Amino acid sequence: MIKPEDQFKKVISHAKEYGYVFQSSEIYDGLSAVYDYAQNGVELKKNIRDYWWKAMVQLNDNIVGLDASIFMHPTTWKASGHVDAFNDPLIDNKDSKKRYRADVLIEDYCAKIEGKINKEVAKAEKRFGDSFNKEEFVSTNPRVVGYQEKINSILTRMGKSLEKEDLVDVKALIEELEIADPLSGSRNWTEVKQFNLMFGTKLGASADSAMDLYLRPETAQGIFVNFLNVQKTGRMKIPFGIAQTGKAFRNEIVARQFIFRMREFEQMEMQFFIKPGTQKEWFKHWKEARLKWHLSLGMGEENYRFHDHEKLAHYADAATDIEFKFPFGFKELEGIHSRTDFDLKQHEEFSGKKLQYFDHEENASYTPYVLETSIGLDRMFLAVFSNSLVEEELDNNTTRTVLKLPAVLAPTKAAILPLLKRDGLPEVAKQIVEDLKWDFNVFYDEKDAVGKRYRRQDANGTPFCITVDHETLENNTVTIRHRDTMEQKRVKIDDLREIIKKEVDVKHWLQKMN
Ligand code: ATP
Repeated sequence: MIKPEDQFKKVISHAKEYGYVFQSSEIYDGLSAVYDYAQNGVELKKNIRDYWWKAMVQLNDNIVGLDASIFMHPTTWKASGHVDAFNDPLIDNKDSKKRYRADVLIEDYCAKIEGKINKEVAKAEKRFGDSFNKEEFVSTNPRVVGYQEKINSILTRMGKSLEKEDLVDVKALIEELEIADPLSGSRNWTEVKQFNLMFGTKLGASADSAMDLYLRPETAQGIFVNFLNVQKTGRMKIPFGIAQTGKAFRNEIVARQFIFRMREFEQMEMQFFIKPGTQKEWFKHWKEARLKWHLSLGMGEENYRFHDHEKLAHYADAATDIEFKFPFGFKELEGIHSRTDFDLKQHEEFSGKKLQYFDHEENASYTPYVLETSIGLDRMFLAVFSNSLVEEELDNNTTRTVLKLPAVLAPTKAAILPLLKRDGLPEVAKQIVEDLKWDFNVFYDEKDAVGKRYRRQDANGTPFCITVDHETLENNTVTIRHRDTMEQKRVKIDDLREIIKKEVDVKHWLQKMN
């Protein structure tokens, strides 16, 4: 068993070694929490984006797309609340000079207590065997109950203090819990301060006429300000949705964990406009629909869970996260928020323009409510990539590294390999590449022994290897090897397209959502 922290290190080094993700500006020692997607990464990322887009826009006749600009009028961010409230509480350690998010320090402290609970559960499970009832144990074992109460009281106090902006109490909590800097062990902390996460920039050439702008911290506002344009020109009837993918920027205080928390990242968001009063049923609908989308990729039901928010953002009347089991534990992958009419009302107020919908059936105008689904493309990439990377023990006591990417998302669908570099085999293999490249990303490789080439493709995530050998010259057949089972079959060259298509076709995968 690989330890989770080692698994995460492996994920990061594998992503680099196989051309998936590089540190940005690496030759200048990199830029913190900014990453570049390399030759394979860009394909995987595009395939995830397409998979989302098809499920959202192509398959729903009441959802349309949009590509709004990154720059928006600065009043947008006043209306949305980001100028005043898009803050994280930060704290510095005076000895190590390291900066932390105060809430994250406290949450990490609670995660440690949760670790103790898990240990108690594992011990009891061993002791009681099959007769073990986890729910009963967790609710009655005095030690576990004590731990849980402690977590609850810490998080409740933190939640209340943050809500009241009582940063003095957040600091007091850190001191009372004797939380030390994870790096230096020092408890010499500064006061807690609010820090706005938006990046500012300027529009215009001269200093006095330049306009202060922000790089958008979320794509959603581009959808809200275009709501009426799309509704009118698309003659959309409520309920309908607008979907968009694009870059967002946040000056994250603590940016660790590779592409989990970046300063420049990409979101895939959909805002669904509904009749006021129907938000509960749509919230339920989108919770289910989004989980089905995730499950269609076959990455294990046990790796997902919902985390319903008790403390709601000022604009929401219900919110949940879909959490995924990353190598560092369950963390938010996607948010589903019932945003009421907050955003449209705010934009109406700040712009002075009406953003209402005329409902012909009701013969009345109203400001629609909004149900949002918001997922980070980079986080989804990390979920897929980390879940797919496995080290397998083989029968002959060797191991192989395989990137078991869902075939629909794999950057390269098939590698075409001549068994030898002579006897006319490369020519036939290249002809197969010429034929297949119109439909799939394929890759030609003739270097090294074929076993070594198979391993390279396994580690690269390529679902199929097609080998051209001497028999091919006699009867136009090749062997096709499946990445996950390593099974090899002899098939006709003419059948290759259909065989590959069957396994990589988006339709084949997305139909699992039904
Ligand atoms: P977190 O609590 O992890 O900071 P959030 O609740 O602020 O996330 P939202 O504002 O709901 O996140 O954004 C929607 C989605 O965008 C998140 O579920 C996540 O997948 C993604 N996301 C948010 N911040 C980042 C980031 N800094 N880097 C990568 N992805 C991000």
